[in-house]
Amino acid sequence: MLCQDVKKKGECKAMQARDVFFIDYDGSLADSGDIDVKLFAELVEMMSQPNFDLVLCSGRPAPYLQGVRSFFGNKVKTPYIIAENGSVVVVRKGHRFYFEMLVPWDERQAIFKIKEDLRKIQQRNNYDFVVEYGKDYSISVHWGRSFEKEAFWEYFNGNIESWIGAQRLKKIRFVPTSDCIDIFGNSISKATGVKHVLQHYAPKDLGRIFYVGDSANDIKAAQVVKTMGGKILAPENVSSDFQPFVDIVGKGRTLSGVIDAIKTAI
Ligand SMILES: [Mg+2]
Repeated sequence: MLCQDVKKKGECKAMQARDVFFIDYDGSLADSGDIDVKLFAELVEMMSQPNFDLVLCSGRPAPYLQGVRSFFGNKVKTPYIIAENGSVVVVRKGHRFYFEMLVPWDERQAIFKIKEDLRKIQQRNNYDFVVEYGKDYSISVHWGRSFEKEAFWEYFNGNIESWIGAQRLKKIRFVPTSDCIDIFGNSISKATGVKHVLQHYAPKDLGRIFYVGDSANDIKAAQVVKTMGGKILAPENVSSDFQPFVDIVGKGRTLSGVIDAIKTAI
């Protein structure tokens, strides 16, 4: 039952708890960066319930996700963004945005060093891989045609001092996905961001919690949400390592699967 269906004012107030939807971007909302406009409109309509909060989560940089958030307009409440695999949380208060950095200083330093190494490798060898440069607290390396995953590992293992050192000291870790590798602080994951965001809610204001994801870098976040009694949703293209954590798999790839799973869940 929706709040507007409730006649008595007191009852309505008691039902104002927010249902929070954490939705991963790549692989869940977008397929290789592309969003289906028609389906997206359907999602916007679905998420525009007054008691729904949408939190976009991704390994991508915060400014990129802020752009995606703007597509939801004012109808959908998106008070938070979890970016760079939980390294950064953007908090919206009125028209202002606050960036909260969740990475410990030593891990940040290790990431900076590796980023510098990657830039040098790229410039020196003109290798065909893409490092996402908007990021300060994590790195995403996207494979190119001439520089595939295996070659990357071979190169890394043999050449990068700071990488080997940071890995040995457990300051960084990497999560390979289908088209890129995410490198970020060892104590950070999307779960860090999810925990951080949930702390912004008073327990009485928190309704149902949902986490929508598709791959390995969603596992820890899903575990946090499950521990709090939430549900895990995924589209059909869910990876085999994430699937065991999923409660509802929607019919269809990416956005169509996500919409189907949300419809079933709510
Ligand atoms: Mg994903």
